[in-house]
Amino acid sequence: KSFQQLGLDAQLLQAITDMGFETPSEVQQKAIPILLEEETDIVALAQTGTGKTAAFGFPLIQKIDVNSRKTQGLILSPTRELCLQITNELKNYSKYFKGLNTVAIYGGASITEQANQIKKGAQIVVATPGRMQDMVNRGLVDISNIDYCVLDEADEMLNMGFFEDITAILSHTPKEKNTWLFSATMPKEVATIAKKFMRTPVEITV
Ligand code: AMP
Repeated sequence: KSFQQLGLDAQLLQAITDMGFETPSEVQQKAIPILLEEETDIVALAQTGTGKTAAFGFPLIQKIDVNSRKTQGLILSPTRELCLQITNELKNYSKYFKGLNTVAIYGGASITEQANQIKKGAQIVVATPGRMQDMVNRGLVDISNIDYCVLDEADEMLNMGFFEDITAILSHTPKEKNTWLFSATMPKEVATIAKKFMRTPVEITV
């Protein structure tokens, strides 16, 4: 299928053309229609380099209500580098969506500055678990109304010892959200997170 046939909006299709993407990758083919059409949890087994950022990023961008400034989507990722990379990609994908703001939250940089960016209104927050948990605890970011939570490279986050942070962060999110978990492998800890925080997820493998 083409990007058009996957059900993406014109603003996304234009950005995709600008980036020179011609055909959807396998994980995009499998995940995008499900995430666009169904309000469901998903577990996707996919390595980096497979186009997974767009697989969750396109549907997430399309589902954001740009008329609301509240944080609607939270993406957790293991490292500052990945956090910045995802943020840059999402900004690029969403460049034709007026009023859509994506903010990166990560350790090793000014918390005040990040809090100020959040205050301006960020519908999408891309964060590393440690800094995110810190900012939630200090009341600097409100995730009590999010609709979507993406756990990217879940196996890596758990390898790095973020189980407690992730658990604490998720406990501040509403029950009625959808969780999209992406992981290269499925060790026991990832299965535990899925079992604890997700409701009968659709499973896809690439
Ligand atoms: P990711 O697996 O999300 O890190 O993506 C790997 C790289 O592939 C990134 O540089 C993307 O910009 C690029 N990419 C993602 N989807 C496509 C596609 N359908 N066609 C060409 N390049 C893509």
